Amino acid sequence: MAFTDTIKKEAFSRAKDKCEKCGKQLVWTNHNEGERGAWQAHHKTSVSAGGKDYLSNCMILCLDCHKKTRTYGSH
Ligand SMILES: [Zn+2]
Repeated sequence: MAFTDTIKKEAFSRAKDKCEKCGKQLVWTNHNEGERGAWQAHHKTSVSAGGKDYLSNCMILCLDCHKKTRTYGSH
């Protein structure tokens, strides 16, 4: 289970290219450790808890904030 590119694009523009937790400026093409503005799409409600791949369940987080979520790496 993962968000589609369409959902991610909509969420990213909704977040105005910023982390929705700390406000850090993000870069659309970067997703990996060490890259400037790296980010990932986070499930607000985890997939294992029944969360769906909907825009309303998608949160744009920088890598640092994503790592701090309880469900990081489990989906
Ligand atoms: Zn952040």
